[in-house]
Amino acid sequence: MTVVPRPSILAVEPYVGGESKIPGVNRIVKLSSNEGPFGPPPGAIEAIRAMAAEAHRYPDGGAKAIREAIGARFGLDPARIVVGNGSDELLALLILAYGGEGTELVMSAHGFLMYEITGLWAGCRIIKVPEKNLTTDVDGMLAAVGPRTRLVFLANPNNPTGSILPQSEVERLRLGLRDDILLVLDSAYAEYVTRPDYDAGAKLVDSSSTTVMTRTFSKIFGMGGMRLGWCYAPAPVIDVLSRVRGPFNVNAAAMAAGVAALAEKGWIEKSVAHNTEWRGKVTDALTAAGIKVWPSEGNFLLVDFGTGAKAKAADDAMKQRGLIVRAMGGYGLPQCLRITIGTAEECTMVIEALTAFVRHG
Ligand code: PMP
Repeated sequence: MTVVPRPSILAVEPYVGGESKIPGVNRIVKLSSNEGPFGPPPGAIEAIRAMAAEAHRYPDGGAKAIREAIGARFGLDPARIVVGNGSDELLALLILAYGGEGTELVMSAHGFLMYEITGLWAGCRIIKVPEKNLTTDVDGMLAAVGPRTRLVFLANPNNPTGSILPQSEVERLRLGLRDDILLVLDSAYAEYVTRPDYDAGAKLVDSSSTTVMTRTFSKIFGMGGMRLGWCYAPAPVIDVLSRVRGPFNVNAAAMAAGVAALAEKGWIEKSVAHNTEWRGKVTDALTAAGIKVWPSEGNFLLVDFGTGAKAKAADDAMKQRGLIVRAMGGYGLPQCLRITIGTAEECTMVIEALTAFVRHG
């Protein structure tokens, strides 16, 4: 006899994060995890330092200060916000609470991988819906819903494709779903969107009792290492989340850093302006070099080399210059690499590396 996990657990491929070392290369530029390029805001760094002396205390289990700060910054009721150890934790808690054996979870074919991984942890059947032009197909999503569907996930913008659905399509998706299905709008990249009609999800959450929005401090606030995410949800879902979350699920330093980050004047504006400028510049330069770049509303670009072999060669060429980007085989897109928008210098390195790759192979 040996102990065995539930069968669906063994269907999970262990998550492999980006590498951070290349043998023989001294200077590494990591552009593989869509991390904010400027690090955490200075005030957040100070807050993390200051919390060290309090490390013997448990954090505030009610997360009052950070929920109030998020509510004030985004104009939302703090009572309808729950924070998590990264938004990944909140996605997992939602699946744990509403999914499980005998239920189905619907997502688009190239949707964020954690929906599938976490769905399998919980024993959900995962339904992946083919996309149109690497964009979520609302009709396909609605057609895939069955009597056992309990969760539908939409990352908007989506990682890794960078594609976005217009607000009218997101609303059409919600309206087409039964009321016993939770729609999770994952807005991890909301701040970077430049489309004027975009709503990160709060409007839909307010007008439907079965829609939630998740957000993160990992991207725009450059705090991936702190693990701080949040969920805005209708009161009954908040009640459910408060039952399934651990009493101290977010650590004290992360919450203090989050409060300080939100207080940092101009941080979001500065980060968005940089991202918009360099997302455009890298897109234009690579396109001019004859490389296909998918349109992106996030802080990353999906670069398409046409074949897996060519993408691999491009990846190797970038590695030789210390550039670590993300191969997309795990997302069913082996012909693509996903490249985070870094600092101006890092983006210039990407342009130079790929332009040279196209010229000389
Ligand atoms: N959703 C999407 C679409 C993401 O790309 C990511 C980060 N890779 C997350 C959620 C999770 O972010 P975190 O757990 O760091 O908040």
